[in-house]
Amino acid sequence: MKHFQLKHAADVKQALDMAMTQTNGADLQSTPSTRFLAGGTTLLDLMKLDVERPTQVIDIHRLPLDKVETLDGGGVTIGATVRNADLANHPLIKTHYPVLSQALLSGTSAQLRNMATRPAATCCNGRAASTSAIRRHHATSANRAAGAP
Ligand SMILES: Cc1cc2nc3c(=O)[nH]c(=O)nc-3n(C[C@H](O)[C@H](O)[C@H](O)COP(=O)(O)OP(=O)(O)OC[C@H]3O[C@@H](n4cnc5c(N)ncnc54)[C@H](O)[C@@H]3O)c2cc1C
Repeated sequence: MKHFQLKHAADVKQALDMAMTQTNGADLQSTPSTRFLAGGTTLLDLMKLDVERPTQVIDIHRLPLDKVETLDGGGVTIGATVRNADLANHPLIKTHYPVLSQALLSGTSAQLRNMATRPAATCCNGRAASTSAIRRHHATSANRAAGAP
């Protein structure tokens, strides 16, 4: 593993400012020197394998972005640090997005679900991280079709 700086962001603005110092506003995918650290279940493996070689890792896992909320116009937002287990068991998701809940509970182990965040997998997929994903992302139309608000 290469040397890197681990920075702890106090809030979303600071996390984005830290990222912008290296990305210059570009998508993180095209700026491999900066990565956000959420649960670490994918990033740390990729760093150990020398696939990812960031010089700056911004820890966001303590940011207060762990809310699942309905939107006024329909749909739901999932905070950037919502863990897979919490999302799968959230009453709103279980009731209105059963496909998502079942999919989360069918994949991987309980340990992974307790650590991994959903936005990291859905938006970023390890190598496709974008700075916009840190804010929140929308549930899929498939779940809307399953009767979601
Ligand atoms: C054994 C094993 C089994 C797995 N099984 C599954 C499975 O069944 N289904 C599945 O979907 N995944 C699976 N994964 C993959 C992994 O668990 C998911 O990708 C997980 O959701 C990653 O979340 P994390 O919070 O740990 O991300 P991290 O490892 O912290 O980050 C992953 C990437 O996302 C970026 N990132 C994280 N948060 C943000 C953010 N808010 N904004 C921008 N970029 C961000 C990071 O910079 C990094 O590039 C598995 C992994 C392992 C090791």
